Amino acid sequence: MKVAVIKEGDPAERRVALVPEAVQKVRAAGIDVLVETGAGARAWLTDDSYGEAGASVVSHQEALAADVLLLVGKPARDLVAGLRPGQVVIGLLAPLTDAELTTSLAAAGVTAISMDMIPRTLPRAQPMDALTSQANIAGYKAAVTAAGAFGRFFPLLITAAGTARPARVLVLGTGVAGLQAIGTARRLGAVVSAYDVRPETKTEAESLGATFIELTSVGPASGEGGYARALTDDERRAQQDELTGHITRHDVVITTAQVPGRRPPLLITEDALKGMSPGSVVVDMGASALGGNVAGSVPDETVVTENGVTVIGAGSLPSSMPTAASAMYARNISSLLLYLVKDGELAIDPDDDLQAGVLITTGGQIVHPALKPEQADHADTAGGAESVDGPAD
Ligand code: NAD
Repeated sequence: MKVAVIKEGDPAERRVALVPEAVQKVRAAGIDVLVETGAGARAWLTDDSYGEAGASVVSHQEALAADVLLLVGKPARDLVAGLRPGQVVIGLLAPLTDAELTTSLAAAGVTAISMDMIPRTLPRAQPMDALTSQANIAGYKAAVTAAGAFGRFFPLLITAAGTARPARVLVLGTGVAGLQAIGTARRLGAVVSAYDVRPETKTEAESLGATFIELTSVGPASGEGGYARALTDDERRAQQDELTGHITRHDVVITTAQVPGRRPPLLITEDALKGMSPGSVVVDMGASALGGNVAGSVPDETVVTENGVTVIGAGSLPSSMPTAASAMYARNISSLLLYLVKDGELAIDPDDDLQAGVLITTGGQIVHPALKPEQADHADTAGGAESVDGPAD
């Protein structure tokens, strides 16, 4: 069996699916590894380093002919139509929000396996949990990015030239990324507060040194699988109003809130931004083509509001730390690949809950239970201009 690391479909993506260390691990299982020329270049991983690890460095066309194609993100649209039936594609394919790609993978007869659909609560899935590994990186980088954009210090500083009070940082959403952002901001010396709709995250946030904010207007909103559920329109408005009072008392706000398969919830309204002091910084980790947690944030751009608040659209932070992110992702994807291989061949067992969880298309069909027609309608809407989580506020 031949697996190939191909160049990413998104030209802005700097991560690569396997690093040389992971190539060795895959080869040790009797699998040939091809790496497209220059695939690791944007993560400072040279073709030579892949060759030394035992990979064959090949052209784009040769890589595309492999049995299994490994990616971080989605394959380029024009590439999918050229794939052959039975070929396997593994990556973060976002099938809950990109129905068009899922349909085209099925139409091409491709077996598509999505790293973002791994059932994260299964203990044996932990080494494969790319959402967690990448969210950890994003949370760290969000805090560092905020500190870099802030015109003052994060820590309390007492010098002969004066005393600087510590920055007040608020983290909204205390899942994997939010907890890492809290820990990093605390290590930089900030005074940190945090909020999440899942009250069970309170003790985790507090154990990292944050003060947990409990809203009186919105009750617990824990959903399935350890995630939050989408709020109703009334809950969302109440949450935004009550959060505004907290947001305007902070120098830096980092937002990480997500609800799987849906538009990220809007937590910071235009009014909240207007109430913040000049020089404040907001990092919106939810910022993506689907929307963001912050009114007016633009993915991968920094905007400064009329009242001097810097709003950083930071939905693709793991790609900005490509070496660390690739190393962690490579461990995740190689663990999944080796889990799916029996006797040197890919053998997907639909009776295995982990394997059934990641299998999106095969034999020309969309097979994942979450993508049945009624859910597929929902995914279409999530990928479109309108929110499935209600209007854009
Ligand atoms: P996520 O990226 O989907 O969401 C980030 C955070 O946003 C979550 O904590 C969520 O509660 C919060 N959020 C959503 N809507 C919100 C709103 N309107 N207001 C405020 N906060 C809102 O989640 P994640 O970090 O990928 O994972 C969430 C949880 O899943 C983890 O904290 C963990 O408990 C669980 N998990 C379990 C395992 C495991 O069992 N091995 C692995 C990974 C994650």
